[in-house]
This record gives sequence, C-alpha cells and structure tokens, in this order.
Amino acid sequence: MKKFYLLTVFVIFSSCNMKISTEQAYQSSHQEMIYAIKNVNIIPMTTKNTVIKNATVVIKEHKIYSINKSIPKNATIIEGKNKWLIPGLIDMHVHTLSDGTPFVMYPTKGPLVSFNTQYNMTPYIANGVTTVFELGARPEHIGQRNEIIRGDVIGPRIALAKVIGGNKSNLTAKTPSDGRNAVRFAKEEGYEFIKVYTWLNEETFKAVVDEAEKQNMKVVGHIPVAFKGKQAKDFFIPNFGLIAHAEELSKQTDNYSYKKAQEFARLAKENSTWLIPNLSNMVAIEQQAKSLQNIENLLGFKYVHPLMQNKWLMSNSYHGVSDDLIAYYKELIDFHILIVKAFKEAGVPMVAGTDAGISGIVLGFSLHEELKLLVEAGLKNAEALASATRLGAQWLGIDDKIGTIEVGKFADLILLNENPLEKISNTSKISSVFVNGKWIDRNKIDTMLSDVENWNNDNKEKFDWKELLNSLKN
Ligand SMILES: [Zn+2]
Repeated sequence: MKKFYLLTVFVIFSSCNMKISTEQAYQSSHQEMIYAIKNVNIIPMTTKNTVIKNATVVIKEHKIYSINKSIPKNATIIEGKNKWLIPGLIDMHVHTLSDGTPFVMYPTKGPLVSFNTQYNMTPYIANGVTTVFELGARPEHIGQRNEIIRGDVIGPRIALAKVIGGNKSNLTAKTPSDGRNAVRFAKEEGYEFIKVYTWLNEETFKAVVDEAEKQNMKVVGHIPVAFKGKQAKDFFIPNFGLIAHAEELSKQTDNYSYKKAQEFARLAKENSTWLIPNLSNMVAIEQQAKSLQNIENLLGFKYVHPLMQNKWLMSNSYHGVSDDLIAYYKELIDFHILIVKAFKEAGVPMVAGTDAGISGIVLGFSLHEELKLLVEAGLKNAEALASATRLGAQWLGIDDKIGTIEVGKFADLILLNENPLEKISNTSKISSVFVNGKWIDRNKIDTMLSDVENWNNDNKEKFDWKELLNSLKN
C-alpha cells in the first residue's frame, strides 16, 4: 500500500512537472503574438450590451488586454472595419466522438476505432464554438482536453459532466447509497459536473442531486422516467440546475398546453433550474424521420466522421417510422416552442445546446441552427446570443473568464462580417476566430476544414457501423 502511495505521488509529481514545462513552451512561443483589431464594432454581450463602434481591441497573452487604448508596437494589425466582434460561442450540450469501445484489452489491444482529436475539434473552431459542455464525459474526453490545453490541438474549452444512471459504460446507481458513491467517484476522477440520467429511480435521483451539492458539483441532465405520472414539483428540486433538453419536460406529460409549459417554468424559476431548449435536436429527429436526404443535406455533413456518416445514413433509428409518429414529432416541436415562450415569460435563463454528435446534429454547425430556432421560438437576437455566450459561462461558473468581451477575459472571440443583432443567422458569417488568444484567420479555417473533408473522403470506405457492431458481438 505504501509503495503504491509513493508511486502515485511520483507519477503525479512528474506529470505536474511535464505539464508546467509544456505549458511554458506553448506560452513562450505564443507570447510574441500580440494582435490589435482596429475599427471594429464590439457586441460585448454584457448585461447592458452597449455596442462599442469603431473600437480597437488588443489581444495579448491569451486575453483581451485593452479596448480603445494604444496599440503596442509589435502588434499584428487586423482590420475590423464594418465587422462585428462577439464572444466565442458555447454549446452547452455536446457528445464529441472519442476513442475506445467496450471490451478493449490494454495494453495489447487498443480501441476498436480511434479518432484524430484535431479533426474532431475543427468543426467547433470553424464555427466559432470556443467552449463546449460534454454531457457524456469519459476519461478519453479528459485526454482530448489535455491535448488542447497543451497546445497540440486547436480546440474549445471543455467542461465535463459524468453520467450517473445510464447504462453500459456510464455509472449505474440503483440505490441512494450507490448514487452518492457514484458522485464521489466522479469527483475523484476529475469531472466537474454530474449528469443525471433517465434510468435513476426517484430516491436515487434525489440522493445524487443532494450528494452533488455536498461535493460542490452542479447537476445537469434528464428527468428520470420514474417521475412520469407524478407531479412536476417532485423532480424540480434545488441543485438540479439544468435540464438537458426541453424534450425531458414533454416526456413527463401528455398535456402539451401553454398552461402546462407555464407550470414547468414556474417550478424551474422557484428551484433555479435552467433549461437547454435543444430545439435543433427535435427538428433533426423529425427531419431524418421524414427523409434521409435531409441528413445528407445537413450543413457540414461532409465534416462528420465517416463512421458516423455511415451510422446516420445506414442505421438510422428515427427513419422509417410511421406517419403518426412523424406527426407526433411535429407536436413535440410545437410544445418545445411553447416551453421556450413560457420560460422566457417566467424569466428562467435558457442556454443554447444542441446534442451535437448524435444522429443528425453536426458539431459546431448545429449551434448556429439552434440560435435561429431560438429566435423563431420568440427570443430576441440578443437573447439568443446571450444564451450561447454570457449565460452559458455563468451556469458553468466561468463568467469571470469568458462569455463577454471585457478587458481581462480570455480572448475567445468571433469576428463576423455582418451584424448578428440585426439577423441571427449572421453568426455564421465568420471572418476569423480567436481561440484562447490564438488567431485563426479565414484561410486557416478553410484549410482546417478541407483537411477533415479530404481525410473523410479518403477513408469513407473503411468505416461501416453495422460491421463494427458485429465485430463487437464476436
Ligand atoms: Zn445528449
């Protein structure tokens, strides 16, 4: 035992050293890059959100160094005339592909499929998504995050939520004491958030939420099916801080009225429970149920990993359902919209999240779709933008570091060709992106994207979802 302890200390100590030295190397090579964006219109996304016209923004050492002050001599000048600067976007609900499959036998046998982290992250960066909330976090995501922190990969900041109450690779918990242990285990493993999942029973759900509060971890997630038929006040409890989809609410009732939506909103308000409406997911479900052509037509589909392209087209579980079910999906979309209206009316904060990575939801590209849908559902352009910037940062507890354009915050920024306050779809007219103070200009974005596209085209034939599943069975 003692030996093991010493070994652990040694490993931690040496890996700490390594981290410091790589970080220093990364920073020193980065330190020389100082940028000044001139004549740009800043949409700061602060609560007041007063647009600052024709401003000069200096970016230095990863951060927003000054606004409307002098330009350092060695700064690289970026012309921002007629352009608009917004904070980098946050997708509050993603599932990024990561290595690993069940039944691997380390160290002689590696994962069945593995992924190039840069290619996984490129669609986020190309779309100005500079922070993501991973709601199905596994150790491999911690690895991806480390690659980004080291500077080996250009990618977003990643917040991680560990699932409790799912099946397969997630932590299962059948009793309150299982639930509490699972929370403590997740904390020790290095996850910052807990995601409660569909299959928890009522007592265990409550114990998980309570233990997470004790461990200072916020809780996001599904509403367990065990609550169906009970009163909504049973599952709206303090520290269940964020509902992962509006669909969770629609699963708890057959009454899709505005009155029901208002009841949910009132209880959410009372318990400080925020909502990810996740309209894009519901729309995508309906779209692929209708036709698989809608999958192929998705913006950014060519950047989806070939394994997922194959799965979405060849093993699509939504496609081929009855017309009645398609009509039901439409009803669900309409109820989602009522929920957004009711939550807005009650003043419950909503944050933008897409479920990126699941069938029909393309990483990065889908967040712009979500913003459009939020506006169609009744949010103002500025409110939709806040849901994908300041509010997301606030829920994650990092609003002192990102989410708005203010001096001292990290330089996660998007330079847009058109004003998104006039038209929300202008968020996708990206001129360039800053990721942690690193400037990715349009040429670089296009090169990064075509690298992914070329690799996908060259390797398409190698990935077959059904074959992969079969090989797991054998
Ligand atoms: Zn999800």
